[in-house]
Amino acid sequence: MDKQIIFLVVLLLTLLAFAYTIRRYIGYFKHTRKGFPVKQLGRRFGIMMEVAIGQTKIFRRPVMGLLHALVFWGFLVILIGSIEMIVDGLFGTERVLSFLGEFYSFIMASGDIFALIIAVAILVFLFRRVFLHVKRFSGIEMKHISHLDANVALTLILLLMLSLLGMNTFYIQSATRAGHELVGLFPVSNLLSSWIDAGDYSEFWHQFNWWAHIGLIFVFANYLPYSKHFHVFLSVPNVFLSRLEPLGKVDIMESITKEVKIMMDPDQAFASPQEGAEAEAEVPERFGIMDVEDVSWKNYFDSLACTECGRCTAVCPANITGKKLSPRKVVMDVRARMKEKGPGLVKNGKEYSDNKALLRDYISEEELWACTLCNACAQECPININHPSIILGMRRYLVMEESAAPGELNAIFSNIENNGAPWQFAQDDRMLWTEGKVEVPLMSDMLAKGETPEYLLWVGSAGAFDDRYKQVSVAFTKVLNHLGVSYAVLGTEESSSGDVARRAGNEMLFQMQAMMNIEILNGYEVKRIITCDPHAFNTLKNEYPDLGGEYEVIHHTQFLRDQMSEGKLSLNGGSLAGKKITFHDPCYLGRANGEYRAPRVVLEALGTSVEMKRNKSFALCCGAGGGQMFKEAEKGEKEVFIERTEEALETGANIIATACPYCMVMMTDGLKYKNKEQEISNYDIAELVALSLEL
Ligand code: SF4
Ligand code: SF4
Repeated sequence: MDKQIIFLVVLLLTLLAFAYTIRRYIGYFKHTRKGFPVKQLGRRFGIMMEVAIGQTKIFRRPVMGLLHALVFWGFLVILIGSIEMIVDGLFGTERVLSFLGEFYSFIMASGDIFALIIAVAILVFLFRRVFLHVKRFSGIEMKHISHLDANVALTLILLLMLSLLGMNTFYIQSATRAGHELVGLFPVSNLLSSWIDAGDYSEFWHQFNWWAHIGLIFVFANYLPYSKHFHVFLSVPNVFLSRLEPLGKVDIMESITKEVKIMMDPDQAFASPQEGAEAEAEVPERFGIMDVEDVSWKNYFDSLACTECGRCTAVCPANITGKKLSPRKVVMDVRARMKEKGPGLVKNGKEYSDNKALLRDYISEEELWACTLCNACAQECPININHPSIILGMRRYLVMEESAAPGELNAIFSNIENNGAPWQFAQDDRMLWTEGKVEVPLMSDMLAKGETPEYLLWVGSAGAFDDRYKQVSVAFTKVLNHLGVSYAVLGTEESSSGDVARRAGNEMLFQMQAMMNIEILNGYEVKRIITCDPHAFNTLKNEYPDLGGEYEVIHHTQFLRDQMSEGKLSLNGGSLAGKKITFHDPCYLGRANGEYRAPRVVLEALGTSVEMKRNKSFALCCGAGGGQMFKEAEKGEKEVFIERTEEALETGANIIATACPYCMVMMTDGLKYKNKEQEISNYDIAELVALSLEL
């Protein structure tokens, strides 16, 4: 009975302390932005089972991934024993779950084996952290306290496992000495028991380890919410709360939609004056993220769940090339800023100010503008944290509230507004790329003839104006003509998709462009769109539906792949036969939309494909996304495109194949920088197909 009373008191103190901490966090959550509705529970459950319980993303780095996964699975099994201990402690029972018979023995045996595996894994983790100086564990955000926290938490886990093994070992000895039948199987502890003999003290050591184990569980439970190991509690729910959209899709700012609708057509913007008045009232105090109360509750949840593992930073092209940006730091800064400002917000309300902000006091403009929005960080995060949403939110604040974008980006905003393209070319010149090169039908002409083409070819601003990419537009349209495809282009009616403006933080300009384009596309009753530009592909496919533009959007590599599989296009390489070709995955085709296979199917029919060391979902960005194409790169040790070109050169390929206008520019520049443009060619896949067909 004494044991029960002591246990009850300790348990109550633990729960009280835990409840106090959680209450504090709930207070902080109340000061974050709403949004991120949690729907599609079945799909979420599937993702949770796959990514969190199945630990699939951890296995992207197989060796350490296996150790982490074993620790996680071991915890799940051992948790059953811990629950049993709490019930036993409260009610004075002995191994209350033993009625489960053989299943109980199986659970106990698994827990016993996992305790040893976890202890070994933790020793490996500690050794790596303390002695090996793994790059992933360093960085400006990894202060002494972060390392100390990690080591304390790992040591606590080690002690938990040792006390569990001790409890089992001395239980075996104590029960055997007392002539009791053993309940459960303990293979590892059986072995230990044969090595260590506690004699008459076996029951004492059994009880000692029992209390030590349960006590450590209680200490651990209350330490975790103040530690990076809070992820032990939060990682599974965080995966359940994952974003369900493709990585490339940017969430719509509905408050901006209302503003743009009013600007474009005040009379038609709302169904009734009352709806208009409600919309006005809903406009937030500021657009984007300036401080921690501007982040969504999900961004804050992400920050609490972050394990500080650094997998995101290890794949960040900006970080790899020595820029200041570290996606892990961005997430940790959100958590740190809330820890600093949260108590004041809870006490004084939303007007509270401590004259600091997440922007600039924690995250600098230099960090924000270094991001290529390649989504490698979000792809890599084992618990599906989305870093780009925070970075983009802060860019939105800089652009829409402070007009504080880098000068070059302000220039492209003006160009898009005035010319419908990021460059200073007149909209009327959008068809000049065809002159004397290729016959391309116009939508307006076809409509005049009463014809409806099967496909709309979205040329894109680069396809119409960039000298190098105009050749790709010519090559692809020659292929379309050769195949007899029914298609047309918008010509001078096409305008920038708004992708660059959006990723540079100018949501207002994006939505204006999107609404204009959608009006034209819908006016022509367009159903299917092909484009050579993965950025337009992503925007038209994933983002235009939010504004009323629903189309089947096909990247040109997918179109070519389909033509091959339908037997309409037969490729044998022609002059390319025997050439070694390496493919650079465009971020907005690959990671953003999961298309890795289509370009490879086409290339495999043309020559010998060789992969770069980072390929498919691991591929390194070319450095041009997120508006970088139009501005100077931030200071670093190297430009991203040089790093990527070096990887391409390592393959010994004769041809670097690309499938994106930005990648084309960057890889061509990389070859020039490395003085390799005479030896190695950079072609778009459409050009390679046209070459092989001798068009
Ligand atoms: S989106 Fe790409 S560049 Fe930006 S933080 Fe993530 S990994 Fe780095
Ligand atoms: S954000 Fe994800 S990948 Fe990055 S440190 Fe945190 S848990 Fe690791």
